[in-house]
Amino acid sequence: MTKMTGKDFFPDYRGKMEYVCLDCGARYPGDELLYSCPKCDSVLLLENTDFRNLAKCRTGQEWQALFDQRQCSRIPALRGIFRFYELLAPVFAEEDIVWLGEGATPMVEAALRFEKEIGIRFAFKNEGQNPSASFKDRGMACAFSYLKWLCRRHEWDEVLTICASTGDTSAAAALYSAYVGPPLKSVVLLPRGKVTPQQLSQPLASGAFVIELPGVFDDCMKVVENLARRYRVALLNSKNSWRILGQESYAYEVAQWRGWDMDDLAIFVPIGNAGNITAIMSGFLKLQDLGIIDKLPRMFGVQSNHADPVYRYYAEPENKRVWKPVEVRPSVAQAAMIGNPVSFPRVRKLAALYVERAGAEAFNVIHVREQAIMDAMAQANRHGHIACTQGAECLAGLAVALKDGLIHEQEYAVLDSTAHALKFSGFLNQYFDGTLSPEYEIVPQKELANHPECLLADLDRNSISLEEFVSLGAEAVAMRLDLREK
Ligand SMILES: *Cc1c(COP(=O)(O)O)cnc(C)c1O
Ligand SMILES: [Zn+2]
Repeated sequence: MTKMTGKDFFPDYRGKMEYVCLDCGARYPGDELLYSCPKCDSVLLLENTDFRNLAKCRTGQEWQALFDQRQCSRIPALRGIFRFYELLAPVFAEEDIVWLGEGATPMVEAALRFEKEIGIRFAFKNEGQNPSASFKDRGMACAFSYLKWLCRRHEWDEVLTICASTGDTSAAAALYSAYVGPPLKSVVLLPRGKVTPQQLSQPLASGAFVIELPGVFDDCMKVVENLARRYRVALLNSKNSWRILGQESYAYEVAQWRGWDMDDLAIFVPIGNAGNITAIMSGFLKLQDLGIIDKLPRMFGVQSNHADPVYRYYAEPENKRVWKPVEVRPSVAQAAMIGNPVSFPRVRKLAALYVERAGAEAFNVIHVREQAIMDAMAQANRHGHIACTQGAECLAGLAVALKDGLIHEQEYAVLDSTAHALKFSGFLNQYFDGTLSPEYEIVPQKELANHPECLLADLDRNSISLEEFVSLGAEAVAMRLDLREK
């Protein structure tokens, strides 16, 4: 048992959570399941109505000290994203909080020779080191803690959780649901053939009810929205604002890693449904509100030009911007292959707030070619990183930002590698073999390809003894490597 000392206790502060409609401003109590405004159908945000008081409780420096101290807490509920309890959902009790090891992901600085190649200093934040191997676990930790809190309050005996997914949302939802168990049951809807085999294996292994539908993610999302309107199901897509809240923790961790110093910091995030980038911006805004950081880091959203509705919107001059979803084309950044992001209204709102406070250069959206994404993935992996295709999209975006003069070499870039490389290793194998479908419009760079080389191909292993095999094998390898005897 953890012995509670004066310094290691669960916080007793409690706030009050309310949903706020982005459009009409209507407010609703936080203890009901809501995904869009019942009055105008717009997107909701969550707000602690007591947030202003947090600024009175402690100075920015005192908050820093508290969060720094909690980095060595032994209380499981405070070891993940809820290290920043007061900034997230300070209504949950310790017993509500689910922690499966998410959060506190490593920030891996690029090797000097890699930084020289790219022309700027940068680090990957490895979100693939979360339990289901993507950042979605941050959101699920908050959403499932909320569901536990809610079930306890309402004494519900069965709750069906449901989500549409480009792969990682379903993996995370199924994992947390399997851990919590009854009264929760997990159902996931996947676009058939549009998630990687690794991602498909995850909800299956966690015992979720996995349903495949024809079409792309955007189609599945519409089905889930329809279901959530008509039946009592808990929707776990990024329309679920509790998930967005949990994902704010990424911003808090980056700020803490920098010692709360935001000078020259630039954050690169891939945009799919746009839940993550809006969560991160919201997180930095809150830190500034409480005086925990004194300025905002610059944000760079990155999209593939095969799925770039947010890029296209912001590429227009301000008075000409018209929101238009796009028809997606196949993208190796498959987890972000979304033409009609449900969180777009959140982007518009938060980007405007961000720009108002930190100037027009504080918010940027870049698009990159599929070719650049695969080249960047191979290149990052070659330099010791475990970047997925979406993390590679950030690296490709950094190169574009440098080329276009949007970022300067004295700045420091943090690239969000949103999932583990292994989830997307199939794309890399196809890149090496030159078997990627032409739809991706990618020509493998020969010097980045790598293949296994077969020696003693004609040898029947069973025809000789182990001794003979070792001697033949060693000779063949030594010859191939041109080894010299000692
Ligand atoms: C979900 C996901 C994204 C896109 O995030 P959004 O919040 O939808 O913008 C990017 N990368 C990976 C690996 C994901 O799972
Ligand atoms: Zn409304």
